[in-house]
Amino acid sequence: MSKTTSVLEDLLQALPHLRPQIYFKSSLTALSHAMEDQVLAGSDPPLLIANFQRERFYRQEAHRYRRIAQKTNQLYVLAAPETDFKHSSELYETVAFDPDDGLSQEWHLVAISRSYATCLICQDRSAPASDFWSAGEPGLDMPAMDQTRRFEGIWTFDRQVCCLAAELLLNRILSYRPELAEKIAIARQQFLIEMPPGFHSADPEPFAQRLVTYLQVGQYKLLKTYRSLATQERKERLVNSITTTIRQSLNPADIFQVAVRELGQALGACRCLIYRCKATDETATIGHEFLGSSVSSLAGQNWPLQNNPLFQEVVRRREGVWVEDAQTDSHLAGTGTRALVQKWEIASWLMVPVVYQNQLVGIVELHYCGGCPHEWDSEELTLVNAIATQVGVAIIQAEAYANLEELNEQLEALDRTRSNLIAITGHELRTPLSTIQICLESLSSEPDMAPELRQAMLNSALADADRLRKLVQDFLTLSRLESGRVDWNLEPLQLQECVDLALSSIRARRSNDAAPIQIAAQVPEDLPLVQADGEWLVEVLAKLLDNACKFTQPPGLVTVQAKRTGSQVEVLVADTGRGITPERLDVVFDRFYQEEGALRRTQGGTGLGLAICRQIVNSWGGKIWATSAGKDQGSQFHFTVPVAVVSGETGPQSPPGGGRNRGGGGSGRRRATLR
Ligand code: ADP
Repeated sequence: MSKTTSVLEDLLQALPHLRPQIYFKSSLTALSHAMEDQVLAGSDPPLLIANFQRERFYRQEAHRYRRIAQKTNQLYVLAAPETDFKHSSELYETVAFDPDDGLSQEWHLVAISRSYATCLICQDRSAPASDFWSAGEPGLDMPAMDQTRRFEGIWTFDRQVCCLAAELLLNRILSYRPELAEKIAIARQQFLIEMPPGFHSADPEPFAQRLVTYLQVGQYKLLKTYRSLATQERKERLVNSITTTIRQSLNPADIFQVAVRELGQALGACRCLIYRCKATDETATIGHEFLGSSVSSLAGQNWPLQNNPLFQEVVRRREGVWVEDAQTDSHLAGTGTRALVQKWEIASWLMVPVVYQNQLVGIVELHYCGGCPHEWDSEELTLVNAIATQVGVAIIQAEAYANLEELNEQLEALDRTRSNLIAITGHELRTPLSTIQICLESLSSEPDMAPELRQAMLNSALADADRLRKLVQDFLTLSRLESGRVDWNLEPLQLQECVDLALSSIRARRSNDAAPIQIAAQVPEDLPLVQADGEWLVEVLAKLLDNACKFTQPPGLVTVQAKRTGSQVEVLVADTGRGITPERLDVVFDRFYQEEGALRRTQGGTGLGLAICRQIVNSWGGKIWATSAGKDQGSQFHFTVPVAVVSGETGPQSPPGGGRNRGGGGSGRRRATLR
């Protein structure tokens, strides 16, 4: 039954004088609506035949055809079925032609009454690539493209052409629905007739007016589409420029500066702000600002957040919030926010969160100032949201980079440690080892060696073995401390007792010095107990005393002092030795730091002593630092230990696992015993 022939071609064949024209879909829509309106407005029942190509195009107009059906019983609607469109005679005649019928490529509308005749017979000439219907994507929202679909054909008021077009179409209808033969014969009789001479068709002016109205509507739709395309393009350009900045810079300050400027300019805001903050922050410092007009700057200001209802709402909803008239909006009353609004002349206020993994990391704000409040439309809000998302990316990227830098620094430090370890191993380990080896080889190969020389060899080997032992011991100690593999036994202790133990250890250690350095300890009797691990406290004191003796030439003096400062006891180990230059006061605590470098050292030692001290002091929450007036001016090493809390006394909390007070002295002096 289906035909591949075209009604337009049949018409052109029959009336070769006709000159087909190109029509855009928007024009055909306007023409069709004007023709349908002419039918609806007229009192004269017409014959009306409409071919919609496909069911979906007909569905958009079905309501109009239900109304037209009330005007005439000679109404025929043709379409290729897609879902439920079928042959029917319910309200009017519907003809569901085969989808591969030539009819599916054509747009027809023929309206013939006794007072007018008009017809539109066109063929779809859209290039297949731009025909998104044939691509099978009916849901695609491309109104602009749809309106530019092109058709070629005839639109005319010529009664003869209209009658022939109707005849061709009625024949097609008959081929699908032969049961309508009688009704179609009536239509032919009533409408496809020659009008008597002197007949004047209806005044075309109302038709022309309707047509202009529809064309205007079409134009307005196009304008809207262009506007939305322009906004979309502006948004894309803005987002692109910020994305490019993000790609080119890892510095969030650069990125935020570009973002506030571009966004502020694009939206014509008086003030655009970006600042970093968390949901719990009381205030934020305005980091980046764009000023679009002569309003006062907020840059660097402390911007209240917690008592700002707008901020609270942003935190609650995790989306942009705005007030159009900040001067009168009741939400901003009574919180001090209104005062801000007045001070900074904010007329309209928009706050959009910068969120990363559901956490607030910053805010983008726009202010419109002066008299006239600004109404935000959805496109502006989408744009600000898109920028806020990019700003979030920049913040996270910068943080990731900062972490990476920190990691790099740690790696570099590790690398330095490793190199230092190699240097230490090369010198500190190899030197004593080779001395030991030479001494032992000489002793075994020369049995006749003089007893004094033998003794000297043995002493030298033993001394170097001791250096080696210390190095290995310090290294292992620091590793244990740094890896947290130490069980701390914090307990109330008498500092004097620890100082005594450290002094006796140092004296034993330096008993062989030709001219021992004088050491004086001045620990006040009424000093409170301290909360620390005794063994490690003695270790710190011993290492500091050892250094003080090591770096002080006779006849120098080393002193140990202590005093209470609030909830801490501050211990001082001072010497009159070679001193430390100001720029090295901090680095002396670094692992393997030695002023003269590992390879040139004369004093022995590992360069680990102060690093060990720092780890130990940190374990009880204390601090350690060095002071010195400079080279050859002596050094002072200070560290703090918390005062212990004993029953009946108020003071700082004992650390978890802290020990008990182990005794009480006879004369009211408290005593603690070291393990
Ligand atoms: P070591 O003493 O084993 O070299 P330390 O970690 O104890 O290692 O000390 C590191 C460095 O700090 C020393 O090599 C020295 O240069 C400097 N230093 C430490 N104590 C003193 C002090 N009392 N006077 C001068 N310099 C000191």
